[in-house]
Amino acid sequence: MAFEFIDDAASGDAVQTAFYIPDAADCMRCGLCVNTCPTYKINPIAAETPRSRIRTIDKLINQNVAVTGQELEHLNHCTQCRACEAICPSRMAYGQLFDAARERLISHKHTLAATLGLKTIEHKALLSAATWIIALYQKSGFQQLCRTSGLLRRLKLDKAEALLPDMAGSPLAQIYPSSHSHRGCVALFTGCIGDRKTQLAAVTLLNRIGYDVLVPKDQRCCGAIHQHQGQPEIAGQLARDNHRIFGALSVDAVIYTASACGLMLQEYAQPLAHRPYDISEFLDRHWPDKLQLKPRTGVVAVHEPCSQRNSLKNQQHVYDLLARIPGLSAIPLAENSICCGAGGGIHALSQPEIAGPLRDAKISHFGHSQAELLVTSNIGCSLHLKVGLSQDKVIHPIELLAGQLP
Ligand code: SF4
Ligand code: SF4
Repeated sequence: MAFEFIDDAASGDAVQTAFYIPDAADCMRCGLCVNTCPTYKINPIAAETPRSRIRTIDKLINQNVAVTGQELEHLNHCTQCRACEAICPSRMAYGQLFDAARERLISHKHTLAATLGLKTIEHKALLSAATWIIALYQKSGFQQLCRTSGLLRRLKLDKAEALLPDMAGSPLAQIYPSSHSHRGCVALFTGCIGDRKTQLAAVTLLNRIGYDVLVPKDQRCCGAIHQHQGQPEIAGQLARDNHRIFGALSVDAVIYTASACGLMLQEYAQPLAHRPYDISEFLDRHWPDKLQLKPRTGVVAVHEPCSQRNSLKNQQHVYDLLARIPGLSAIPLAENSICCGAGGGIHALSQPEIAGPLRDAKISHFGHSQAELLVTSNIGCSLHLKVGLSQDKVIHPIELLAGQLP
């Protein structure tokens, strides 16, 4: 079940209650969602459509009747891209319905690897230790050795290892004052697996346009992974922690660099005290006219993450921001309306037969685009797409922008 907060006057804390989830039985079976669904594109059968999944969800959360193994399998193929939700005339809240169904299904039934991953993200000390170990593994050259020796493949860890974010850079400080004409102060939401290069680019750009940047060290994961993996209580706790930590700051906005985290922050039932902004949107809205970037010729292809395109609907800011680089042409990647299959990273590991072909289609479109780089604003998509391309071909738009500062 999803969650919301109400203020508890006695304790001053936010507390969790249940709230209304739109009825899965409201689906009119109109079929408008069918051709938006990435899994239907791969396997065009009725069972791989959103409306079939909604029937399964209806059985689980409304009728409370058993579903077959096949129905479950088709439900689990869903990448949670919410393209069906974006087009649905009945305004079915597919994302919430799916989370509610998954809570019924897989609470306490994760694989060992998934359980370890979820626990690591949930506990700050474990996450800090894991971050330190990954950074050491990457910096020491051990990663290169493991990759080239074939050890990872023999241990069947190659697919999971390939999805590790780049942690090799220095950890972020807690305060970055701007040395330019002062305009305000923002907080940076780093998420649980944020890419260091992207975060540093965000700090550099925000400082350059006159904003001090605070990076609260106690901040938590946004909760999206737990929410979508049937653990809303833990997601609720992470949301409450972030609410308290960011609410205590005196800032103009909370800036995120990963659109999937941003969507979760935007969908907290009790909004954060300071409005969350996508970094590209914030920079685009506050870019000083007199700040001219160095020219860079060439073409880059923009992959629009589903969280950005189907839910936040703020992808245009990426194009507008990149248009500030003289000489650069930013074009949309073909079939941007179709999910890349990352599904928050976990889908890429748990459903490789769905995630793999979806990623391959993106890479093929990139190959035909003549673009030199693939640009995306979500860490999950980035890590997934890097598996099929070389690491330096996939980049966050703000890294490109920071590289062109005079
Ligand atoms: S578009 Fe909406 S109402 Fe139509 S079949 Fe899909 S989920 Fe049902
Ligand atoms: S969320 Fe995406 S993958 Fe899942 S049913 Fe809807 S369109 Fe298909």
